[in-house]
Amino acid sequence: MIKKLIKRVFGKSAKVKSVGAAQVIPFEAHAVDRDGISFGARRVTDGLQAAGFQAYVVGGAVRDLLLNKHPKDFDVATNATPEEVRRVFRRARIIGRRFRLVHVIFGEETVEVSTFRRAIDAEDAQTDEHGRILRDNEFGDQEQDAARRDFTANALFYDPSTQEIFDYHNGYGDIRANTLRMIGDPEVRYREDPVRMLRAVRLSAKLGMKLDPATAAPIAKLKELLSNVPEARLFDEMLKLLLSGHAMECIKKLHEMELHHGMLPMLDVILEQPMGEKFVMSALQNTDQRIADEKPTSPAFLFAALLWHEVLATWKLKQDAGEKAVAVLHFAMDEVLERQRAQLAIPRRYDTVMKELWVLQPRFEQRSGQRPLRLLALPRFRAAFDFMLLRCQSGEADVELGEWWEEFQHANDDRRAAMLMPDTGAPKKRRRRSKKSTSSAVQSELPID
Ligand code: ATP
Ligand code: MG
Repeated sequence: MIKKLIKRVFGKSAKVKSVGAAQVIPFEAHAVDRDGISFGARRVTDGLQAAGFQAYVVGGAVRDLLLNKHPKDFDVATNATPEEVRRVFRRARIIGRRFRLVHVIFGEETVEVSTFRRAIDAEDAQTDEHGRILRDNEFGDQEQDAARRDFTANALFYDPSTQEIFDYHNGYGDIRANTLRMIGDPEVRYREDPVRMLRAVRLSAKLGMKLDPATAAPIAKLKELLSNVPEARLFDEMLKLLLSGHAMECIKKLHEMELHHGMLPMLDVILEQPMGEKFVMSALQNTDQRIADEKPTSPAFLFAALLWHEVLATWKLKQDAGEKAVAVLHFAMDEVLERQRAQLAIPRRYDTVMKELWVLQPRFEQRSGQRPLRLLALPRFRAAFDFMLLRCQSGEADVELGEWWEEFQHANDDRRAAMLMPDTGAPKKRRRRSKKSTSSAVQSELPID
């Protein structure tokens, strides 16, 4: 079918050959130029081919080039073993214990090289009781390597030297039809690796591809299987999703497919409260925008934002119980982080930054004496200020507070002196633009420093 289509569109010059089970799509048909391949990936495929091996650019990069998107990175697949790959390149090291991959380094660029692998037959695969594959690192050939990949669009091999694409599962046709389709029986493939359900959501949102109905159908029934996935893997996938540049769309889709349950408790709870939802959505939109602008993003900032309303609620409960505000903020933070860890393991290395961002929030309320200057001088001021602006945008903090700090940080000394509020020593009432939109927890004046 693809042959006919290509002949019709491109005439006789664009011949689709079959090599074994693969359709070979010529450059004239797909128009992916080798100049679109990164320097490092090109060096790797050239080097391996010169040494007598097969080597192709594979996976997400080929898919993205066909979709006219900028690939995030370039992976190479080869029939050379990791040791053979390492011998060809000067700066190469073998990584990973389960899947042994080779990283070949060219200055800033690292190219990941994997040896063709095969999926292990159901009989000899090690699986858990739900069918999840625990071991699948047997080497194989190109055709087998295509079959063990997830979606047809992710199973294309591009040879930069001939500019041909090898396609075993009609991935080329599916990309042209904007369809994300699971290779093989979707239910079996989700059981083998439930993370594929999240990948289906993330890739379809990120690439604007529709999920093939048969690929989408089993998700509703199998979503519970995500609870068997090791926490660190789930966290990695969640991070990819949140930092995909299309987090808003991804979260919406997760919600629609009810895949968010049990992963981020705040998504269950918060998306149901209007203020929380607004805040989370502003944070995600802000992250998406930063990625579109090629600005750096910080996972700690994002997770701090996602958990903020949990912290607020817990903090408020403790204050209502009559405890002192500053001290209980720390307890509230620890409690929320522990609760979260039971669901989705946010690594502890993010804790310090997250806590700092939270703890600095009440300090924006303090606008007299030396306090604003001290806050301004902190290395984390900029991030904390951005965080506070999100709170203003969502209506949880006063818009006027954000405006005051925006002006104060850029003002000269005279203007700053004029802007400072009188220091009466006692907690004072501030002018509020909208009573409804302020949270009593954050509005309280806290002698934090
Ligand atoms: P991205 O653009 O987000 O990097 P990607 O498709 O390249 O998307 P990677 O995680 O980099 O995603 O994976 C590289 C390739 O490995 C995929 O294109 C796919 O062929 C294969 N792959 C990744 N994860 C799985 C999985 N869970 N099951 C089967 N194949 C997978
Ligand atoms: Mg990739």
